[in-house]
Amino acid sequence: MEKIELKPASVFKMFARINQVPRPSKREEKMIAFLKDFGEGLGLETKVDQTGNVLIRKPASAGMESKPTVILQSHMDMVCEKNNDVDFDFDRDAIQTYVDGEWMKAKGTTLGADDGIGCAMEMAILADNSLKHGPLECVFTRDEETGLTGAEGMKAGFMTGQMLINLDSEDEGEMFVSCAGGCRTAVTFRFTPEAAPADAFFLQLTIKGLTGGHSGDDIEKKRANANKLLARFLYDGMKAWGLRLSDIQAGGLHNAIPREASCLVCIPNKYKEQARVQWNIFAAEVQEEFSVTEKTMEFLLESAEAAATVLPEDVNRRLICALQAVDNGVYAMSQDIALVETSSNLASIKQTEPGVIAINTSQRSSLLSNRKNMANTVAAVFELAGAEVEIGEGYPGWAMNPKSELLRITREQYVRLFGKEPIVRGIHAGLECGLFSEKYPGLDMVSFGPTLRGVHSPDERLLIPTVDLVWKHLLAILENV
Ligand SMILES: [Zn+2]
Repeated sequence: MEKIELKPASVFKMFARINQVPRPSKREEKMIAFLKDFGEGLGLETKVDQTGNVLIRKPASAGMESKPTVILQSHMDMVCEKNNDVDFDFDRDAIQTYVDGEWMKAKGTTLGADDGIGCAMEMAILADNSLKHGPLECVFTRDEETGLTGAEGMKAGFMTGQMLINLDSEDEGEMFVSCAGGCRTAVTFRFTPEAAPADAFFLQLTIKGLTGGHSGDDIEKKRANANKLLARFLYDGMKAWGLRLSDIQAGGLHNAIPREASCLVCIPNKYKEQARVQWNIFAAEVQEEFSVTEKTMEFLLESAEAAATVLPEDVNRRLICALQAVDNGVYAMSQDIALVETSSNLASIKQTEPGVIAINTSQRSSLLSNRKNMANTVAAVFELAGAEVEIGEGYPGWAMNPKSELLRITREQYVRLFGKEPIVRGIHAGLECGLFSEKYPGLDMVSFGPTLRGVHSPDERLLIPTVDLVWKHLLAILENV
């Protein structure tokens, strides 16, 4: 089989150099030093801010001095995941890459093309004096992967360009123009547990085997939320038989759609058969509702040993009503592109100790005002229910700018080069661009990059031919802004 050419050679050469440099998130010291040496070695103005972000400024090529300054931006850190059988030290060892057909991969570790390939493109542009472009600022941010802290720590004024191209997207041909901001709303119910009623029959209710997924990216996929399903049965049971909660352990991570929910409840003995029948009817109805997206749901109802205590009747009612009423899932779609604009996720409900039930929820929106509205919507329900509510500070989103000049040029050059329209889309999750949009209001941004698969895992791979496509597109944009 013919070996695929690594083109452009300048970009792959830089990527090979980057892969010699350890750069785990939050431990990027070696990479910062490497980039500083690289910029200074080229005789270019190079600065490092207090957070560790690096900026290398390159003057315009001859005749292009009057063009606006363009910022090229990638993150310097990488996710460090390896297979169990691989002996590898991410703080010391160089990534071992190899080519498999059209793909570049690493031997048993993450490849670091997320976002090393973006950094390599910036370095290749900095080092090549034959290219045509206006003034450039090549920015390398720290620690994107574990909390966007590099972009978060960057002060206003560090970058001075009017347009920013983020090179951290993973599908060639897709241009990102918007991302969501988010916050968490935490709820606590505090109470004194009561002795269980005499004549109570205890049941353990469990819903599991749901698809789950990312609470941003997957929120519009019509998947069931295990916590919301369980709340439905609790509400009906409370109304019909005076059902009382004794314990609840439902859901998991704040950024995941909950796949499993379980609780211990009691009902008067005389209703136990009725409850079983209702549970089966409920299961069948829900399976019908989610017949396309949830094919492996399980509904378990088991007799349980009697617990000593239950929730006081009033707390039981307020909690269950709030769980039934609280908004969840997609709240609004974007008016500009086919994208979820605002959503909420009822992530977890857990009795953390007797008398304390902690509920975690998260809200996302590309519009700050609507994220606040969504968080208030969730908060208000639980406030009505008498719980303590705390809305977290959160991180900002990036709203699409339908008048973006950079997007217009990006599209135009893509069509000119490849004879087809790029896909213009947003992501309902966080990107560094969200943090920039807060600190640099009016900054015109777009995000794209070559095709990657299996990111954040040892299966990470880079589709080699797409690097050349992105490279040509990027140079055409720089020439034509
Ligand atoms: Zn990335």
